[in-house]
Amino acid sequence: MRSTNTFANRCLLALLVLIPAFSVGCAHNPAGAEAATTWKSPFFFITMTDPQLGFFTENADTAKETELLEKAIAHANRLKPAFVVMTGDLIHKPGDDAQRREFLRITATLDRTIPLHLLAGNHDLGNVPTRPSIDYYRQHFGPDHYSFDIGGCHFVALNTTLMHSPGKAMQQEAEQWTWLTTDLEQSATKHPTQTILFQHHPTFLKNADEPNDYHTVPAPRRAELLQLCRQYNIAAVFAGHLHRCNAVSYRKMQVFAAGPVGKPLGKDPSGLTIVKVYPDRVDYEYHSLDAVPASVTFD
Ligand SMILES: [Zn+2]
Repeated sequence: MRSTNTFANRCLLALLVLIPAFSVGCAHNPAGAEAATTWKSPFFFITMTDPQLGFFTENADTAKETELLEKAIAHANRLKPAFVVMTGDLIHKPGDDAQRREFLRITATLDRTIPLHLLAGNHDLGNVPTRPSIDYYRQHFGPDHYSFDIGGCHFVALNTTLMHSPGKAMQQEAEQWTWLTTDLEQSATKHPTQTILFQHHPTFLKNADEPNDYHTVPAPRRAELLQLCRQYNIAAVFAGHLHRCNAVSYRKMQVFAAGPVGKPLGKDPSGLTIVKVYPDRVDYEYHSLDAVPASVTFD
């Protein structure tokens, strides 16, 4: 009986280890050990976006993106953030198996004590996502929307490509809204110290009532999203998609679209963002991959 119980305990332990790893959309997560709903002290995480393997040479190869993403992962391994989040456009050509395998090969070198959270971009799903393209993403990269708690804070990852162009996946888009509303409602009962959203598309570029375009969450869904941001006191949104940096705010909420790990499309070099979470604010700084600081310090 003793050995059976031990075996059963091991199985239970294995399940407890596995369930959080798959439920929060991580490539790996050390038993959800970092997940916590109680604030302890300031901490930092790293956002990376648009590694977009294949973009430099229009899918001929991924050599340059490999070099840049490996450099970004090496910085994360050195700095040991609470987690790394990659806000979409992981690869350039939707559904490309070689690009996907190379992306997953590199990200698998992230220290296994650091949870990795992936988001889907328009280059992962296609500009107009379909049920098959969403299924492909979920099968190979993980959930396209999910949330997790770390250090007393709540983090929500959204599929904004679906919000941008829901026409071919209306059911999935409706499901995401229902899920998001419920998730924020439930999280509010736990009084998170900070709530932060991750998106591929920034909510807007200059002001909340600007016209719709390729780059942002369009009306009327932008207004619905901002309404939830007001209601649930969202501190910050971290996004990508632009391949350059763009920082705006909405009331007290910061909306930062970061420059890319991969190919820049503006003056900002390939880089990553270090985000420091304090009880009363969220600070962030974008760094070139050639100038990431040696360590992260807090006030
Ligand atoms: Zn994009």
